[in-house]
Amino acid sequence: MFDVLQVLLQAQKELLSFNGLGISVLGGSKSSTSLEDIPNNYKVLFLQGGGSGQFSAVPLNLIGLKEDRCADYLVTGTWSAKAAKEAEKYGKVNIVHPKLDSFTKIPDPSSWTLNPSASYVYYCCNETVHGVEFNFTPETKDVVLVSDMSSNFLSRPVDVSKFGLIYAGAQKNVGCAGVTVVIVRDDLLGYALKECPIVLDYKVQAEMKSLYNTPPCFSIYIMGLVLEWIKNNGGSAAMEKLNKQKSSMIYDIINSSNGFYVCPVDAACRSRMNVPFRVGKKEGDDALEKKFLEGASKRGMISLKGHRSVGGMRASLYNAVTLEDTAALADYMRGFLKEHQL
Ligand code: PLP
Repeated sequence: MFDVLQVLLQAQKELLSFNGLGISVLGGSKSSTSLEDIPNNYKVLFLQGGGSGQFSAVPLNLIGLKEDRCADYLVTGTWSAKAAKEAEKYGKVNIVHPKLDSFTKIPDPSSWTLNPSASYVYYCCNETVHGVEFNFTPETKDVVLVSDMSSNFLSRPVDVSKFGLIYAGAQKNVGCAGVTVVIVRDDLLGYALKECPIVLDYKVQAEMKSLYNTPPCFSIYIMGLVLEWIKNNGGSAAMEKLNKQKSSMIYDIINSSNGFYVCPVDAACRSRMNVPFRVGKKEGDDALEKKFLEGASKRGMISLKGHRSVGGMRASLYNAVTLEDTAALADYMRGFLKEHQL
């Protein structure tokens, strides 16, 4: 017979350590902007459908803000590319910068052609797969700015007033999968296209305080705990300081390795959250990369393999990763370099 108590006890145990690996089943981490910094003319929604749900929700709610039904997209990696593709279903999408052959840089804003009659300008603040992060807020004159902050939410302070909308899936920096935070300015509510599914309609969800449909209670509860933790640990400014320290530890080794470790991303937009790198040479040495991963795994460091579309390694340094965890990776990288550098 299905034994509820057994399931709950197992869940309780595995919340802290899944399969004895010391990884929480929530897979989350903790991050930086404190939710109190949000001005009064914004609503905070807790929705389902993840970041990908917002790829559709953003155009469904906002592309109709202006008659032309067009939107400007900055495409600096996999996630913004997916968002732009989804938006094409609902209106005209303009990629505002020269085409990139690889996702390793952010084109200089002087090369962007923004359309003043666009309904909004969209960008992904941190491209999780490629490790490309904006360290500035794009200037869009009077056009509404929208940002996907799924992988760097609360990892640094953000001036919310510069944005029409910010969203973030909780699972990287503020909790567990299942809830997506949407911070939207009041005057942008009420422009949803008629085809917009009601659960994605920001106005409906705002009026119903995110309770139009059954909310993902457990994920919201966990997020509440994480936000409390962030607040009690110095808020987004403290997270930023930590994240700078952590990412510098890894980039410093890469930069001083004489080409043994190679990060393909331009120094100006290297992510503090996701550090992609190759081992052995620029395109990666297969045998060395395999060995690197095996050695890391033996030391309890897993999930260092880069995304399959990019290859190599990727160290994710979300808020839940401590300075000590990062120092352990840095030590391992230094040792591996010593052992294998010709
Ligand atoms: N946006 C970013 C920056 C992401 O990193 C991800 C997932 O990793 C997504 C969107 C998609 O999120 P979800 O898997 O919650 O749909």
